[in-house]
Amino acid sequence: MVIEAPLLYPNNSVIPVMEDGEFFAQSRFDPHQTEQRRRSNEKLRRSLKEEMILQVARLLKKLESNAFYLLKQKDLEIAKEAKKRAELEEIVAKLEAENQALKRISQEKEAMIDSLNDTIEEMREQAYYGLNNGGGGVVVVDDAESCCGENTGNFKDVEEGRSNNGEEEEEFDEVMSCKSCYCGKSCYMFLPCRHLSACKFCEPFLKVCPVCRTPKKASIEALIF
Ligand SMILES: [Zn+2]
Ligand SMILES: [Zn+2]
Repeated sequence: MVIEAPLLYPNNSVIPVMEDGEFFAQSRFDPHQTEQRRRSNEKLRRSLKEEMILQVARLLKKLESNAFYLLKQKDLEIAKEAKKRAELEEIVAKLEAENQALKRISQEKEAMIDSLNDTIEEMREQAYYGLNNGGGGVVVVDDAESCCGENTGNFKDVEEGRSNNGEEEEEFDEVMSCKSCYCGKSCYMFLPCRHLSACKFCEPFLKVCPVCRTPKKASIEALIF
């Protein structure tokens, strides 16, 4: 190691560096003093060297701890970024799922609207048919129609002249009775199965159609004359 700083005595005065000639010249005059000075010089040189080594070691240690701190900070930042990214991805996935759910609901609603339109159309046709062919007879929604379309007719004409017939009336009452309590009059049509199957008291409590057990998506009040 090269020592460039001048050597100092403990009182900070500069230690003169002696050339060989000078050393011999001095030693000739006072050998004892010269030897003492040489030893002192050597001792100082050694202690300075040791001190310098210690300082360098301290500096290295400090640099190392600084580097360690910076690395730790960077690691923390990276972890934070990763967390943020994961959160954003989660939000995107959630929004995507919500979007899909809304799409599904919208499709269901559209299907329901189509079904309702079909029902209205059928009722119109049947009412028209009933009025023209039944001679002013009563139009009854046939709740025995299956959702699979086993029967083709949705309505049944009951002619006025036959309303006095006890058997017919009984059958009519049975057909029109609520399929949940059997005492009220069925006036609610369930969708999508289209069964006229519940009275106005039972309908709000029913989650499935009492005739075919199809889950209720909606219901409409049938206006029966
Ligand atoms: Zn009922
Ligand atoms: Zn049903």
